[in-house]
Amino acid sequence: MTDTVLVLVDHEGARVHPTATELLTLARSLGDDVRAVWLDDGAAPDAAARELLGRFGAVSVLPVRVTGADPHLTATVVDGLLAALEAAPARLLLLGSTFEDREVAARLAVLAHGGVVTGATSVVADADGRVVAGKEVLAGSWSSRCAVTGDVAVVTVKPHSTQALPVEAPVAAAAADPLVVEAGPAARAVEVTGREPRPASDRPSLADAEVVVVGGRGTNGDFAPLEELADVLGGAVGATRVATDEGWIGHEAQVGQTGVTISPRLYIGAGVSGAVHHRGGMDAAVTVVAVNEDPDAPIFEFADYGIVGDLTEVVPALTQELRRRRGAATS
Ligand SMILES: Cc1cc2nc3c(=O)[nH]c(=O)nc-3n(C[C@H](O)[C@H](O)[C@H](O)COP(=O)(O)OP(=O)(O)OC[C@H]3O[C@@H](n4cnc5c(N)ncnc54)[C@H](O)[C@@H]3O)c2cc1C
Repeated sequence: MTDTVLVLVDHEGARVHPTATELLTLARSLGDDVRAVWLDDGAAPDAAARELLGRFGAVSVLPVRVTGADPHLTATVVDGLLAALEAAPARLLLLGSTFEDREVAARLAVLAHGGVVTGATSVVADADGRVVAGKEVLAGSWSSRCAVTGDVAVVTVKPHSTQALPVEAPVAAAAADPLVVEAGPAARAVEVTGREPRPASDRPSLADAEVVVVGGRGTNGDFAPLEELADVLGGAVGATRVATDEGWIGHEAQVGQTGVTISPRLYIGAGVSGAVHHRGGMDAAVTVVAVNEDPDAPIFEFADYGIVGDLTEVVPALTQELRRRRGAATS
Protein backbone atom coordinates (compact mmCIF):
# COMPACT_ATOMS: atom_id res chain seq x y z
CA MET A 1 0.00 0.00 0.00
CA THR A 2 1.19 3.51 -0.71
CA ASP A 3 0.59 5.83 2.22
CA THR A 4 -0.46 9.23 0.98
CA VAL A 5 -2.48 9.41 -2.22
CA LEU A 6 -3.42 12.77 -3.71
CA VAL A 7 -6.53 13.19 -5.83
CA LEU A 8 -7.00 16.28 -7.98
CA VAL A 9 -10.64 17.32 -7.52
CA ASP A 10 -12.38 18.52 -10.64
CA HIS A 11 -14.88 21.18 -9.59
CA GLU A 12 -16.90 24.07 -10.99
CA GLY A 13 -17.10 26.69 -8.29
CA ALA A 14 -17.93 24.75 -5.15
CA ARG A 15 -19.70 21.94 -7.08
CA VAL A 16 -17.62 18.77 -7.13
CA HIS A 17 -17.56 16.80 -10.36
CA PRO A 18 -18.66 13.14 -9.96
CA THR A 19 -15.30 11.79 -11.23
CA ALA A 20 -13.78 12.91 -7.92
CA THR A 21 -15.91 10.35 -6.05
CA GLU A 22 -14.64 7.56 -8.33
CA LEU A 23 -11.01 8.67 -7.94
CA LEU A 24 -11.35 8.86 -4.15
CA THR A 25 -12.86 5.36 -4.04
CA LEU A 26 -9.91 4.07 -6.07
CA ALA A 27 -7.42 6.03 -3.95
CA ARG A 28 -8.73 4.32 -0.79
CA SER A 29 -7.64 0.97 -2.16
CA LEU A 30 -4.10 2.29 -2.61
CA GLY A 31 -3.39 4.26 0.54
CA ASP A 32 -4.88 5.12 3.89
CA ASP A 33 -4.10 8.83 3.80
CA VAL A 34 -6.21 10.10 0.91
CA ARG A 35 -6.07 13.84 0.38
CA ALA A 36 -8.15 15.84 -2.06
CA VAL A 37 -6.27 18.65 -3.80
CA TRP A 38 -8.56 21.59 -4.49
CA LEU A 39 -7.17 24.15 -6.92
CA ASP A 40 -8.80 27.37 -5.88
CA ASP A 41 -10.04 29.29 -8.92
CA GLY A 42 -12.03 31.68 -6.78
CA ALA A 43 -14.19 29.14 -4.94
CA ALA A 44 -12.97 27.51 -1.75
CA PRO A 45 -14.23 24.03 -0.75
CA ASP A 46 -17.38 24.71 1.25
CA ALA A 47 -18.97 22.48 3.92
CA ALA A 48 -21.03 20.54 1.33
CA ALA A 49 -17.93 19.85 -0.78
CA ARG A 50 -15.94 18.70 2.26
CA GLU A 51 -18.82 16.48 3.33
CA LEU A 52 -18.98 14.86 -0.12
CA LEU A 53 -15.22 14.39 -0.38
CA GLY A 54 -15.13 12.93 3.14
CA ARG A 55 -17.99 10.58 2.31
CA PHE A 56 -15.90 9.03 -0.46
CA GLY A 57 -12.75 8.73 1.61
CA ALA A 58 -10.80 12.00 1.60
CA VAL A 59 -9.21 12.53 5.00
CA SER A 60 -8.48 16.15 4.22
CA VAL A 61 -8.86 18.77 1.52
CA LEU A 62 -5.79 20.71 0.54
CA PRO A 63 -6.76 24.03 -1.07
CA VAL A 64 -4.07 25.51 -3.32
CA ARG A 65 -4.21 28.99 -4.82
CA VAL A 66 -1.74 29.95 -7.55
CA THR A 67 -1.38 33.70 -7.93
CA GLY A 68 -0.25 35.71 -10.93
CA ALA A 69 -1.68 33.59 -13.77
CA ASP A 70 -4.97 32.27 -15.09
CA PRO A 71 -6.01 29.37 -12.81
CA HIS A 72 -7.14 27.15 -15.68
CA LEU A 73 -3.89 27.08 -17.65
CA THR A 74 -2.08 23.75 -17.65
CA ALA A 75 1.11 25.37 -16.35
CA THR A 76 -0.80 27.03 -13.49
CA VAL A 77 -2.46 23.78 -12.46
CA VAL A 78 0.93 22.07 -12.53
CA ASP A 79 2.46 24.79 -10.36
CA GLY A 80 -0.32 24.16 -7.85
CA LEU A 81 0.15 20.39 -7.92
CA LEU A 82 3.92 20.70 -7.47
CA ALA A 83 3.25 22.78 -4.37
CA ALA A 84 0.74 20.18 -3.14
CA LEU A 85 3.27 17.38 -3.65
CA GLU A 86 5.86 19.35 -1.72
CA ALA A 87 3.43 19.96 1.17
CA ALA A 88 2.08 16.41 1.14
CA PRO A 89 4.68 14.08 -0.40
CA ALA A 90 2.81 11.26 -2.07
CA ARG A 91 3.80 8.22 -4.07
CA LEU A 92 0.67 8.54 -6.23
CA LEU A 93 -1.44 11.33 -7.66
CA LEU A 94 -4.70 10.50 -9.43
CA LEU A 95 -6.47 12.74 -11.94
CA GLY A 96 -9.39 12.38 -14.33
CA SER A 97 -8.70 11.69 -17.98
CA THR A 98 -9.87 14.75 -19.88
CA PHE A 99 -7.58 16.43 -22.43
CA GLU A 100 -6.63 18.99 -19.79
CA ASP A 101 -5.92 16.34 -17.14
CA ARG A 102 -3.68 14.39 -19.50
CA GLU A 103 -1.73 17.50 -20.44
CA VAL A 104 -1.36 18.40 -16.76
CA ALA A 105 -0.25 14.86 -15.90
CA ALA A 106 2.45 14.81 -18.56
CA ARG A 107 3.93 18.17 -17.56
CA LEU A 108 3.69 17.39 -13.86
CA ALA A 109 5.41 14.01 -14.18
CA VAL A 110 8.33 15.57 -16.05
CA LEU A 111 8.80 18.34 -13.49
CA ALA A 112 8.29 16.02 -10.50
CA HIS A 113 10.66 13.33 -11.91
CA GLY A 114 7.74 10.95 -11.88
CA GLY A 115 6.16 8.47 -14.24
CA VAL A 116 2.93 9.12 -16.06
CA VAL A 117 0.23 6.74 -17.26
CA THR A 118 -2.78 8.23 -19.02
CA GLY A 119 -6.18 6.68 -19.63
CA ALA A 120 -5.82 3.96 -17.00
CA THR A 121 -8.78 1.72 -16.30
CA SER A 122 -7.27 0.11 -13.19
CA VAL A 123 -4.60 1.00 -10.63
CA VAL A 124 -3.14 -1.40 -8.07
CA ALA A 125 0.00 -1.69 -5.96
CA ASP A 126 2.15 -4.75 -6.73
CA ALA A 127 4.05 -6.92 -4.24
CA ASP A 128 7.03 -4.52 -4.42
CA GLY A 129 4.80 -1.55 -3.59
CA ARG A 130 4.99 -0.15 -7.11
CA VAL A 131 1.97 1.52 -8.64
CA VAL A 132 0.76 -0.56 -11.59
CA ALA A 133 -1.80 0.96 -13.96
CA GLY A 134 -3.74 -1.07 -16.49
CA LYS A 135 -4.98 0.37 -19.76
CA GLU A 136 -6.36 -0.66 -23.12
CA VAL A 137 -4.14 0.13 -26.10
CA LEU A 138 -4.17 -0.23 -29.89
CA ALA A 139 -7.88 0.40 -30.12
CA GLY A 140 -8.69 -2.04 -27.36
CA SER A 141 -6.98 -4.99 -29.00
CA TRP A 142 -4.37 -5.21 -26.20
CA SER A 143 -4.42 -4.67 -22.47
CA SER A 144 -1.20 -3.37 -20.96
CA ARG A 145 0.04 -2.95 -17.40
CA CYS A 146 2.57 -0.25 -16.59
CA ALA A 147 4.56 -0.24 -13.34
CA VAL A 148 5.69 3.27 -12.48
CA THR A 149 9.32 3.42 -11.43
CA GLY A 150 9.71 7.21 -11.11
CA ASP A 151 9.60 9.10 -7.81
CA VAL A 152 5.88 9.73 -8.06
CA ALA A 153 3.19 8.00 -10.11
CA VAL A 154 0.91 10.42 -11.94
CA VAL A 155 -2.05 8.47 -13.29
CA THR A 156 -5.09 9.72 -15.20
CA VAL A 157 -8.06 7.40 -14.82
CA LYS A 158 -10.90 7.02 -17.30
CA PRO A 159 -14.38 7.78 -15.99
CA HIS A 160 -16.50 4.78 -14.89
CA SER A 161 -13.39 2.62 -14.34
CA THR A 162 -14.30 2.44 -10.64
CA GLN A 163 -17.72 2.42 -9.07
CA ALA A 164 -17.89 5.26 -6.54
CA LEU A 165 -18.62 3.81 -3.09
CA PRO A 166 -18.98 5.81 0.11
CA VAL A 167 -17.02 4.85 3.23
CA GLU A 168 -18.85 3.09 6.03
CA ALA A 169 -18.56 5.85 8.62
CA PRO A 170 -18.25 9.11 6.71
CA VAL A 171 -16.65 12.18 8.27
CA ALA A 172 -16.34 15.52 6.46
CA ALA A 173 -12.84 15.96 5.09
CA ALA A 174 -10.81 18.31 7.27
CA ALA A 175 -9.74 21.55 5.60
CA ALA A 176 -5.96 21.84 5.56
CA ASP A 177 -4.32 25.28 5.64
CA PRO A 178 -4.52 26.74 2.12
CA LEU A 179 -1.28 26.87 0.16
CA VAL A 180 -0.62 30.07 -1.74
CA VAL A 181 2.06 29.86 -4.41
CA GLU A 182 3.20 32.17 -7.14
CA ALA A 183 2.81 31.06 -10.76
CA GLY A 184 6.04 30.15 -12.54
CA PRO A 185 7.27 31.69 -15.81
CA ALA A 186 5.43 29.22 -18.08
CA ALA A 187 2.05 30.06 -16.54
CA ARG A 188 2.77 33.77 -16.57
CA ALA A 189 3.79 33.62 -20.26
CA VAL A 190 0.15 33.22 -21.33
CA GLU A 191 -2.64 35.70 -20.85
CA VAL A 192 -6.20 34.42 -21.28
CA THR A 193 -7.96 37.23 -23.08
CA GLY A 194 -11.46 35.78 -23.16
CA ARG A 195 -13.53 32.83 -22.03
CA GLU A 196 -17.11 32.02 -22.93
CA PRO A 197 -19.18 29.22 -21.45
CA ARG A 198 -20.68 26.80 -23.93
CA PRO A 199 -24.47 27.09 -24.26
CA ALA A 200 -25.95 25.02 -21.44
CA SER A 201 -27.33 21.62 -22.37
CA ASP A 202 -29.44 19.27 -20.30
CA ARG A 203 -27.40 16.34 -21.57
CA PRO A 204 -24.46 15.01 -19.57
CA SER A 205 -20.99 15.85 -20.81
CA LEU A 206 -19.65 13.47 -23.43
CA ALA A 207 -16.56 12.44 -21.47
CA ASP A 208 -18.52 11.42 -18.37
CA ALA A 209 -21.83 10.20 -19.76
CA GLU A 210 -22.94 6.69 -18.85
CA VAL A 211 -24.71 6.42 -22.21
CA VAL A 212 -23.39 7.86 -25.46
CA VAL A 213 -25.19 7.75 -28.81
CA VAL A 214 -22.74 8.35 -31.65
CA GLY A 215 -23.59 9.24 -35.22
CA GLY A 216 -21.36 8.85 -38.26
CA ARG A 217 -21.46 9.42 -41.98
CA GLY A 218 -24.50 7.17 -42.18
CA THR A 219 -26.63 9.84 -40.50
CA ASN A 220 -26.22 11.93 -43.62
CA GLY A 221 -26.22 14.97 -41.38
CA ASP A 222 -29.47 14.36 -39.52
CA PHE A 223 -28.65 13.98 -35.84
CA ALA A 224 -32.20 14.62 -34.62
CA PRO A 225 -33.16 10.91 -34.23
CA LEU A 226 -29.91 10.26 -32.34
CA GLU A 227 -30.54 13.21 -30.04
CA GLU A 228 -34.01 11.86 -29.28
CA LEU A 229 -32.61 8.43 -28.46
CA ALA A 230 -29.91 9.98 -26.26
CA ASP A 231 -32.53 12.02 -24.40
CA VAL A 232 -34.70 8.99 -23.71
CA LEU A 233 -31.65 7.24 -22.25
CA GLY A 234 -30.35 10.33 -20.42
CA GLY A 235 -27.18 10.15 -22.50
CA ALA A 236 -24.84 12.35 -24.51
CA VAL A 237 -24.49 12.64 -28.28
CA GLY A 238 -21.14 12.05 -29.97
CA ALA A 239 -19.93 11.83 -33.54
CA THR A 240 -17.24 10.47 -35.79
CA ARG A 241 -14.70 12.76 -37.35
CA VAL A 242 -16.45 12.52 -40.70
CA ALA A 243 -19.60 13.97 -39.11
CA THR A 244 -17.77 16.80 -37.35
CA ASP A 245 -15.64 17.61 -40.41
CA GLU A 246 -18.85 17.84 -42.45
CA GLY A 247 -20.07 20.42 -39.95
CA TRP A 248 -23.11 18.32 -38.99
CA ILE A 249 -22.25 18.72 -35.32
CA GLY A 250 -19.58 20.64 -33.37
CA HIS A 251 -16.00 19.37 -33.13
CA GLU A 252 -16.38 19.04 -29.37
CA ALA A 253 -18.62 16.03 -30.10
CA GLN A 254 -15.88 14.08 -31.89
CA VAL A 255 -15.10 10.75 -30.30
CA GLY A 256 -11.82 9.07 -31.12
CA GLN A 257 -8.09 9.20 -31.19
CA THR A 258 -8.07 12.89 -32.01
CA GLY A 259 -11.32 13.63 -30.20
CA VAL A 260 -12.84 12.93 -26.81
CA THR A 261 -12.09 9.64 -25.10
CA ILE A 262 -15.23 8.10 -23.65
CA SER A 263 -15.86 5.10 -21.41
CA PRO A 264 -19.65 4.87 -21.08
CA ARG A 265 -21.54 1.85 -19.79
CA LEU A 266 -23.48 1.89 -23.06
CA TYR A 267 -22.24 3.08 -26.48
CA ILE A 268 -24.65 3.11 -29.41
CA GLY A 269 -23.05 3.79 -32.79
CA ALA A 270 -25.38 4.52 -35.71
CA GLY A 271 -24.00 4.85 -39.23
CA VAL A 272 -20.50 4.43 -37.81
CA SER A 273 -18.10 2.05 -39.56
CA GLY A 274 -15.89 1.46 -36.50
CA ALA A 275 -12.60 2.72 -37.96
CA VAL A 276 -9.51 2.25 -35.82
CA HIS A 277 -9.12 5.99 -35.11
CA HIS A 278 -12.68 6.13 -33.83
CA ARG A 279 -12.37 2.93 -31.83
CA GLY A 280 -9.31 4.35 -30.07
CA GLY A 281 -11.58 6.79 -28.24
CA MET A 282 -14.37 4.41 -27.22
CA ASP A 283 -12.77 1.02 -26.65
CA ALA A 284 -13.36 1.24 -22.90
CA ALA A 285 -17.14 1.29 -23.42
CA VAL A 286 -18.68 -1.58 -21.47
CA THR A 287 -21.46 -2.50 -23.92
CA VAL A 288 -21.35 -1.57 -27.59
CA VAL A 289 -24.46 -1.54 -29.78
CA ALA A 290 -24.05 -0.95 -33.51
CA VAL A 291 -26.65 0.03 -36.08
CA ASN A 292 -25.31 -0.25 -39.61
CA GLU A 293 -26.82 -1.24 -42.94
CA ASP A 294 -23.64 -3.03 -44.00
CA PRO A 295 -23.36 -6.48 -42.33
CA ASP A 296 -19.60 -6.44 -43.04
CA ALA A 297 -18.95 -3.11 -41.29
CA PRO A 298 -15.92 -3.43 -38.96
CA ILE A 299 -17.94 -2.18 -35.98
CA PHE A 300 -19.76 -5.53 -35.88
CA GLU A 301 -16.42 -7.22 -35.10
CA PHE A 302 -16.34 -5.64 -31.65
CA ALA A 303 -19.99 -4.77 -30.99
CA ASP A 304 -21.82 -6.73 -28.29
CA TYR A 305 -25.15 -6.25 -30.09
CA GLY A 306 -25.52 -5.49 -33.78
CA ILE A 307 -28.55 -4.39 -35.76
CA VAL A 308 -28.20 -4.59 -39.53
CA GLY A 309 -30.53 -1.99 -40.95
CA ASP A 310 -31.14 1.56 -42.01
CA LEU A 311 -30.59 3.85 -39.04
CA THR A 312 -33.38 6.17 -40.13
CA GLU A 313 -35.77 3.29 -39.37
CA VAL A 314 -33.94 1.49 -36.56
CA VAL A 315 -33.07 4.47 -34.33
CA PRO A 316 -36.61 5.95 -34.15
CA ALA A 317 -37.99 2.44 -33.56
CA LEU A 318 -35.56 1.99 -30.64
CA THR A 319 -36.58 5.34 -29.19
CA GLN A 320 -40.25 4.54 -29.55
CA GLU A 321 -39.89 1.14 -27.89
CA LEU A 322 -37.87 2.60 -25.00
CA ARG A 323 -40.53 5.27 -24.48
CA ARG A 324 -43.27 2.64 -24.55
CA ARG A 325 -41.46 0.48 -21.96
CA ARG A 326 -40.75 3.45 -19.71
CA GLY A 327 -44.37 4.52 -19.98
CA ALA A 328 -45.48 0.99 -19.09
CA ALA A 329 -43.07 0.93 -16.15
CA THR A 330 -44.38 4.22 -14.72
CA SER A 331 -48.09 3.64 -15.34
C1 LIG B 1 -4.85 10.74 -37.99
C2 LIG B 1 -6.31 10.44 -38.01
C3 LIG B 1 -7.05 10.68 -36.87
C4 LIG B 1 -8.42 10.40 -36.85
N1 LIG B 1 -9.13 10.62 -35.71
C5 LIG B 1 -10.43 10.27 -35.68
C6 LIG B 1 -11.20 10.43 -34.48
O1 LIG B 1 -10.73 10.93 -33.46
N2 LIG B 1 -12.51 10.04 -34.51
C7 LIG B 1 -13.09 9.49 -35.62
O2 LIG B 1 -14.28 9.15 -35.56
N3 LIG B 1 -12.39 9.36 -36.75
C8 LIG B 1 -11.08 9.74 -36.81
N4 LIG B 1 -10.40 9.60 -37.98
C9 LIG B 1 -11.14 9.18 -39.17
C10 LIG B 1 -11.37 7.68 -39.21
O3 LIG B 1 -10.23 7.03 -39.73
C11 LIG B 1 -12.61 7.32 -40.06
O4 LIG B 1 -12.45 7.90 -41.33
C12 LIG B 1 -13.92 7.81 -39.46
O5 LIG B 1 -14.03 7.43 -38.12
C13 LIG B 1 -15.08 7.20 -40.23
O6 LIG B 1 -16.27 7.82 -39.83
P1 LIG B 1 -17.68 7.14 -40.13
O7 LIG B 1 -17.71 5.82 -39.43
O8 LIG B 1 -18.69 8.15 -39.79
O9 LIG B 1 -17.69 7.01 -41.68
P2 LIG B 1 -17.53 5.77 -42.63
O10 LIG B 1 -16.28 5.02 -42.35
O11 LIG B 1 -17.74 6.27 -44.02
O12 LIG B 1 -18.73 4.81 -42.23
C14 LIG B 1 -20.08 5.16 -42.40
C15 LIG B 1 -20.89 3.92 -42.07
O13 LIG B 1 -22.25 4.24 -42.10
C16 LIG B 1 -22.95 3.14 -42.64
N5 LIG B 1 -24.21 3.65 -43.17
C17 LIG B 1 -24.41 4.47 -44.23
N6 LIG B 1 -25.70 4.79 -44.34
C18 LIG B 1 -26.34 4.16 -43.33
C19 LIG B 1 -27.70 4.10 -42.90
N7 LIG B 1 -28.68 4.79 -43.53
N8 LIG B 1 -28.01 3.33 -41.84
C20 LIG B 1 -27.07 2.62 -41.18
N9 LIG B 1 -25.76 2.64 -41.53
C21 LIG B 1 -25.41 3.42 -42.60
C22 LIG B 1 -22.04 2.57 -43.70
O14 LIG B 1 -22.32 1.21 -43.95
C23 LIG B 1 -20.67 2.76 -43.04
O15 LIG B 1 -20.26 1.60 -42.33
C24 LIG B 1 -9.03 9.88 -38.01
C25 LIG B 1 -8.27 9.66 -39.16
C26 LIG B 1 -6.94 9.94 -39.15
C27 LIG B 1 -6.16 9.67 -40.41
